[in-house]
Amino acid sequence: MAGSDELTPFKAAARILDWLEAIGELTLPINLDLVRQMLPTTPFGKGAVLLEPAPVTWGSSEGALVRNPDNPNEWGIFYNAKTRPERQRFTLAHELGHFVLHRDSHASFNCDKESIYTGADTLKLIEREADEFASNLLMPGDLLRQRITGKRIDFHLLGELAKEFGVSLEAMCIRLIKFTEQRAVLVYWDYGFMKYHWRSQSAIRTRVRLRSTDDPQEPLPDTLAADEDIVQEWDGIQMPAYHWCSSEPPGITLREMKHSFPSGNRVLSLLVLESAAPRDFAGSGREDAIDNNKGRRYGN
Ligand SMILES: [Zn+2]
Repeated sequence: MAGSDELTPFKAAARILDWLEAIGELTLPINLDLVRQMLPTTPFGKGAVLLEPAPVTWGSSEGALVRNPDNPNEWGIFYNAKTRPERQRFTLAHELGHFVLHRDSHASFNCDKESIYTGADTLKLIEREADEFASNLLMPGDLLRQRITGKRIDFHLLGELAKEFGVSLEAMCIRLIKFTEQRAVLVYWDYGFMKYHWRSQSAIRTRVRLRSTDDPQEPLPDTLAADEDIVQEWDGIQMPAYHWCSSEPPGITLREMKHSFPSGNRVLSLLVLESAAPRDFAGSGREDAIDNNKGRRYGN
């Protein structure tokens, strides 16, 4: 049974951030090289050596953490040098997460983007934990909250924050959904179909539900997501919320923003809804658990 002293990804990242703060190094973007050098001097890396990360170019792998077969105390991190810098940072933080959380139970970790969907359950779990560690380490909640409280949420702000924290826009959007107090929904489209959607806490509390089409879900009529002529809409356009949400009565509006990635095949929709009173009724909880079930790499 998991006790309260169990080391969770969140707690591990928080401890590391505390240590950085104690030496006056809690600055953005988080200095991962410093973290790597520091870890073996902390209880999280006792007796181990964490070598300098090595860039490699290989197939579908994002990164790996590997124990030296000749020296079990020595660990090496490898990362895909062909990906964008912010993606590499996320991968490095992810591998540091395996080092802190999982190295006692595994000798090597080979991390690709899809294993979080298709891997065995234990594999999915440790991949998700390493991702959670990475986002907590790279985007400390307190620092993010300071920057979004009272601010108008749009892709301009998110783009600035992504740059400041040294993460991808997508990673920052997912993190925002966790921390914003507004009713917000993030939808990720992959080749025209919904790959996932996440709701903020207040969206969950007020039972915001997207209108469903077929499975897999396609963009809804009268939304920017469905309008192929609109490639980017970073400020957002106000519209009746029921265009998107079956849960919202007429009169409630939302602001829809759209960001298309350069490849054109991946699109983020961000919805910020007018506030509403929490809705509570019997049977709640079950369906709300769906949001995070699919898991998701944060580092795209
Ligand atoms: Zn991994």
